[in-house]
Amino acid sequence: MADDQTMSTVAVLGAGTMGNGIAQVCAMAGYAVALSDPQPDALERAVNTIRGNLEKGVDRGKVSIETRDKALHGLRKAKDLADAVSRADLVIEAAPESMDLKTAIFRDLDGLAPAHAVLATNTSSLSVSRIAEATGRAERVVGLHFFNPVHIMKLLEVVRGRETSRETLDACLAFARRIGKEPIVVTDTPGFASSRLGVVLGLEAMRMVEQGVATPQDIDKAMELGYNHPIGPLKLTDLVGLDVRLGIAEYLHGELGDEQYRPPELLRRMVAEGKLGKKSGQGFYDWAQEGR
Ligand code: NAD
Repeated sequence: MADDQTMSTVAVLGAGTMGNGIAQVCAMAGYAVALSDPQPDALERAVNTIRGNLEKGVDRGKVSIETRDKALHGLRKAKDLADAVSRADLVIEAAPESMDLKTAIFRDLDGLAPAHAVLATNTSSLSVSRIAEATGRAERVVGLHFFNPVHIMKLLEVVRGRETSRETLDACLAFARRIGKEPIVVTDTPGFASSRLGVVLGLEAMRMVEQGVATPQDIDKAMELGYNHPIGPLKLTDLVGLDVRLGIAEYLHGELGDEQYRPPELLRRMVAEGKLGKKSGQGFYDWAQEGR
């Protein structure tokens, strides 16, 4: 098994919002990174986004020219899954949130990635242990839950599946530190630590809007100024996407059964009306006008 000293090659599967950020931070830390996506457009866009982020970083004095060049040099677009993972020490899957899709990917990965490779999923809610069952190396399967935007957010949840070995965890903790993240270890339970706690706050804030307790702006201010949260729960919901939040709440309600995870009617109504938050221009804030 590769520990962080010997891990040098990372494959990132899925070049969407999360995949391109993960590829960027790995490349900046000096890993050789192969990025893959079945959609050639997505792959092209991801590389352009990474290049743009690095340039912005250089302009703002936050990224050295040397780091930019090292990152761009270390990053490559893989032709397909086999090409991406054939020499990988660590594979990080960042494909859409579907158990069927992820188990299919891990089944393929198990046959294509080197036997020593750690296989990680960036799932934000699905069971890492169930995904691991699709492979014959569950002790080397782990959750690496990054946060958006990846190059800015410091937290990395390292999710320990039922079979994940100590060696795998240690290699992932060392990897996390090398890419400049602060890791926490969480047992594979619904919502891990972050969503389980964060979603309760967001849903309760929505119930308060429903009940006319205060405006969204004032509820957010209560948390920002009263509790020192950098961003209020409703603005954060707008940034994450109301549809994404609804999906997580439904999942947690189904898995944990607690009423606190039942999605409020207001959330369902807003999603049905296409009010998805920042990405649609309207959520708890009007992003075209005031919420920016
Ligand atoms: P996205 O839709 O932006 O990107 C997913 C990418 O995966 C797309 O480019 C798609 O073409 C590609 N893809 C589709 N099928 C694939 C396959 N078989 N193999 C490889 N790639 C494939 O999604 P995202 O927001 O980047 O989310 C990816 C994962 O990260 C999900 O599991 C999600 O729950 C998790 N996550 C998302 C966030 C977030 O804020 N967006 C935060 C943490 C975790």
